[in-house]
Amino acid sequence: MDYFDCHMHSSFSGDSETPPKEMIEEAKRRGLSGICFTDHLDLDYKPSPHLFDLDLERYETTIRSLIKEYSTPGFIILKGLELGLKPTLSATHRSILSKNDFDFVIGSVHVIDDMDPYYPEYYDFKTPLEAYERYFSCVLENLKAFHDIDSLGHLDYVCRYGMRHYGKNEGALSFDDLSESIEVVLQFIIKNDIALEVNTGSFRYDMTEPNPSYRIVQRYHEMGGRMLTLGADAHDTKTIADHFEEVAERLKGIGFKSYLVYEKRRPVERPL
Ligand SMILES: [Zn+2]
Ligand SMILES: [Zn+2]
Repeated sequence: MDYFDCHMHSSFSGDSETPPKEMIEEAKRRGLSGICFTDHLDLDYKPSPHLFDLDLERYETTIRSLIKEYSTPGFIILKGLELGLKPTLSATHRSILSKNDFDFVIGSVHVIDDMDPYYPEYYDFKTPLEAYERYFSCVLENLKAFHDIDSLGHLDYVCRYGMRHYGKNEGALSFDDLSESIEVVLQFIIKNDIALEVNTGSFRYDMTEPNPSYRIVQRYHEMGGRMLTLGADAHDTKTIADHFEEVAERLKGIGFKSYLVYEKRRPVERPL
């Protein structure tokens, strides 16, 4: 499988116990052409303080030495970051990115009003529509506050857990109900040359489509968006590059020909 998986966690993330070395060995075994580590940095994460802090120095040293040891012309290892966005953290994030070298930065919204839609309390007193609309409007608010990112992570993240909370029928996203809130986000990233991430971590949650859904990816294409990144959001070796072949076929069906891999924060096109 000649793909590049650009969203992957290791024991540097608060929610993964897999040493980065094991992720590398498994990715190589599966024949990938490369991987990019994107461990979590979610500062001021109120649901579980310091769970997603990241030791940036140790991360840098460890990944650099693994690159030396394992990287070959046919298997590239990159060092990225999944940055948890929050409007109040813009200045801190700016300073972190200016002091550290990353190949790739995914901007993700995991926290809304200090709650993570991963946990049920986010949905208290909200209809599915309210829960989802609040999420998308916060994504826009976050991007307006800070958008020095390369790709926007799992845009409909809230649906991944909303489906679990409300049940498959009630929690299913109706694109038409939410199209306005989603389109302004798509418009924003297109205008600012930020890629849209297609995240296949959704399949672990019994979803049959990536995050965001094909309908959203299709709308992005109709609006002129052509910059996609591809990641399985694996937290262990089992789900590296999960469902990539199937998803790539669907993306080609929508009209995409390529996806992007960022090196030193510059996009390099690869065929789907
Ligand atoms: Zn995430
Ligand atoms: Zn992730």
